Amino acid sequence: MKEEKWFGINRKTIDWFPTIDYDICNGCMICLECNHDVFGKEDDKPVVCNKDNCIVGCTACAIVCSEGAIKLPPKEYLRRIARHRNSSCSCC
Ligand code: SF4
Ligand code: SF4
Repeated sequence: MKEEKWFGINRKTIDWFPTIDYDICNGCMICLECNHDVFGKEDDKPVVCNKDNCIVGCTACAIVCSEGAIKLPPKEYLRRIARHRNSSCSCC
C-alpha cells in the first residue's frame, strides 16, 4: 500500500527512492522483486517508474543488488527532515 505520510510528513515532499547506475547494472532484475511496484522493465533494464511507492527508509533493493548499482539517499537525509519537523525554529 502506498504511504501518504511518513511520521506525519507528506510522502510526496520526501525524496526517498532508488536511482540506478546503468553503467554498472547487469540487468539481473532481482530489484524487480520489490513488491511495492516501484520498478518496471524497459529494454531489458530496470526503471524506477513509481518513485513515491518506495517505502521511506527502506534500502532492501540496494542491499540485494550484487553490482551496487542502486543508490538511495543517506539516512542522514531523513534525520534532517525529522529534526526540521520537530524544530520550532522558523529561520530555515
Ligand atoms: S539488481 Fe542491480 S544489477 Fe540487477 S537489475 Fe537491478 S539494478 Fe541492475
Ligand atoms: S528501497 Fe525498498 S521499497 Fe524502495 S524500491 Fe527498494 S526495495 Fe522497494
